[in-house]
Amino acid sequence: MPIELPIELPIESHLQGGVLQRRANMRPRIEGRVLPLVLQSRLGRFLVRQWAWGMMSPQQVQKTASLELQDFRQLVENCSVPNVTMQSFPRLEDLEALARLGNSGELKNNMNRDLMELTDLQAIRPSTTRLPVKKVGTPWGIYCDISILWPHSLFATIFNSFQGAWCERICPSKDELEKFWDSQANHPNLKDHPMTKRANWKRRAVPIAIHGDGVPVTGCGKSWCKSMLVLSWCSMVGHGSTLEMNFLIVSMMSALFMKSGTTKQLLWKRIVWSLQQLFDGQWSAYDEYGAKYGDRTPEGRRAGTNLCGDDGFFGVLWGLKQDLEHLVSEFGWKDYRRLDTGPCGFCPCDVNTFPWKDFRLAKSLWIPRAYDICTWLASWRNKHCIFDLSGVTLFTVIVDMLHVKYLGTDMYFNASVLWLLCFKVLPGDCHANLEIVWQAVLQWYDSNPSAERYSNLKLSMFCKPASPNASFPVLKGKAAEIRALTPALYSCWCKYMDPRDTQHKEIKVALACSVRVDRILDEQKGAYALPAVAAREFKTMIFSFLVVQNSLGKWYPEHGMKLFNVTIKSHYLAHLGLNAVHINPRLGFCFQGEDFMGKIKMITGMSARGNNIYELSGKTLAKYCRGMQLVLEGRGD
Ligand SMILES: [Zn+2]
Repeated sequence: MPIELPIELPIESHLQGGVLQRRANMRPRIEGRVLPLVLQSRLGRFLVRQWAWGMMSPQQVQKTASLELQDFRQLVENCSVPNVTMQSFPRLEDLEALARLGNSGELKNNMNRDLMELTDLQAIRPSTTRLPVKKVGTPWGIYCDISILWPHSLFATIFNSFQGAWCERICPSKDELEKFWDSQANHPNLKDHPMTKRANWKRRAVPIAIHGDGVPVTGCGKSWCKSMLVLSWCSMVGHGSTLEMNFLIVSMMSALFMKSGTTKQLLWKRIVWSLQQLFDGQWSAYDEYGAKYGDRTPEGRRAGTNLCGDDGFFGVLWGLKQDLEHLVSEFGWKDYRRLDTGPCGFCPCDVNTFPWKDFRLAKSLWIPRAYDICTWLASWRNKHCIFDLSGVTLFTVIVDMLHVKYLGTDMYFNASVLWLLCFKVLPGDCHANLEIVWQAVLQWYDSNPSAERYSNLKLSMFCKPASPNASFPVLKGKAAEIRALTPALYSCWCKYMDPRDTQHKEIKVALACSVRVDRILDEQKGAYALPAVAAREFKTMIFSFLVVQNSLGKWYPEHGMKLFNVTIKSHYLAHLGLNAVHINPRLGFCFQGEDFMGKIKMITGMSARGNNIYELSGKTLAKYCRGMQLVLEGRGD
C-alpha cells in the first residue's frame, strides 16, 4: 500500500550559496524523483532519522507521530481563533502519514515496509558475500553471508543517484582532480602508473583512501561483542564531516575471524576484486568468487560498461590509513614491536647495523637505505593482496600522525616536560608546582581560544604520584588535547627553565620544533602535498626534534631520571617527515571517536541486542544504508 505523496519538495531548499550554484549546473537526477513527504515537520524529520539509524523501531515512530497528532487536534478544537482547522497546518501531513503506518498501528509487522516506501530509503543496498568464519565457542568454522558495501558499487550509486553528494564528498570538480594529480607529480607511485596511459586521466581519476581500524564495542552484553574491524573508504578530494565523507565497506566482529587468517585473507581478496573494478571504472564480467555472470543476468548485461556513464570516472587507491597495529594485523607489515628483527616496513633499520634511533639527517645509516619501490619489492616476498593492485606500494601507506606524534612522541615528551617542571624545576612541592604550570597553561589557552583544552591537569595524568620516577611519564588525553598543549607547554617552559642548563635549552628547542611541525600542517591545510619549501622545513623540524629527544632520552636516564622515552613511534614519525613531500600528512589523519565511528559503534551496539553474531553485519549495514542515504540527500541534519 504505497502512501500517496501529494507534493514534491525541491531538494535545493536545503542548500545554500555556492553549493546551490554548483548543483544547479548539474544534470537534474534527483529532481526527477518524487521526494518523500517526510521532509516537512521537524518532528517528522527527527522520527525518520531515528528510525533510519536504528534508534527507534517503526512502532515507536508510529506511536509518537500519532500521539503528537492527537495533542495537536485537541489544541485546534480548543482554539478560539475562527477558521483554524487541521488543514491550516499542512506541515503536519508527514506526521499524519507516519501515524497511518501499519494501518494506523494495527498491523505492526507491516510498519517497517510502509516506512521504507514512505521514505524511499532504498537507494543504497548492501551486497552479501560468503565467507568462512569461526563458529563462536567452538574450534570449527562455518560459512556465513557477510553484508558488505562494495566500494565500486557505492561509487557508481553516488554518481548516478546522488549528484549533489558526489560533487561535495567525492569529486568537487574535474579541475580539482587535476589539481590533486598535479600536486602528486613527484609521488613515487605515479611513475609508470598504468592509469597515466588512459586518455584524460587527470580529470577522471578520483584518489581514494581506505581507513581500517580495530574498534572496541562496549555495553551490548554479549561475550562475542567486544571488538570489531571497521573498514571504510573516502575520496581524498572530498569535503565534509567524517560521517559525510567516509563510506563503510564492512564491519565485522573480531570473534568471527578464524585464527588461521583465512577469513581476513578472503575478505581482503574480495575487497581487492571491488577495488579493481573501481580502478577499471567498469563493471566486471566476473563475480567475487571468480565465476562469470550469466549473459542474461543484470550483472552480465552491464559487464564492461562504465561505473560513471560517459564521464568515465574511476577510483584509484592512493592512501591506506591506519594505526601501526592495524598495519601489522591486517597487512602483515613488519611488527613495530619487534625491534630485534627489524621493526619497520619502510627501511631495513634494526638495533645495531642500521640503528633505528639514529635521526641525524647527514649521518644516519637507515635514511639513505629507506626503501624505494624496487628495494621494497625485493625486501618482502609474501605481500598482502592489497599490494597486487597496480600502483599500490609502500608509499600508499600513510603513517598516521595522530598515533605517531600526538599519541606517540608528544605523549611521552610533553609528559616528561610536565614531570620536570613539577618535580625538579619549580621550587615548591609537586602539587603547588603543578598549579603554577596549570595557571600558565590556562593563560595560554585564554589567548588562543580555539584550542582543544584540557579541563584540568593532575599528576596522575602523566605519572604515578606515589612513585613518580618508577616508569617513564606518559600523558593521558585525546590526540587534539595533547596537540593543543604543546604550545602552551612551550611558553610555560620558556618562563621557568634555567637558561644556563644544557638540557633545559635542548628541551626548549625540541618543543619549538614540535610546535612548528603542527603549525606547518595548519598553514598547509588545503594542500595535497606539502610544497617543497614547507616539506623541507617540516622534515628538518621533525628530525631536529627527534635528535634532541634522543639525546635527552640518554642523558636523563643516565642521571637517574626515567624521562623522554624514545619509542619506535619516533622512527615512524621520521618516515612521515620524509614522505610529507609526496603527500600531506593531514590526508592520513585517523580520527577516532568522531561522528562516523560513533555512529558505527552505536548501530552495531543496537543491532547486537536482538541478533546473533552471524546476522549482525546485515542488521548493521541495513541501518547504515538508510542513515547514509539521508546524509547523502542532505536530510541527515
Ligand atoms: Zn624505517
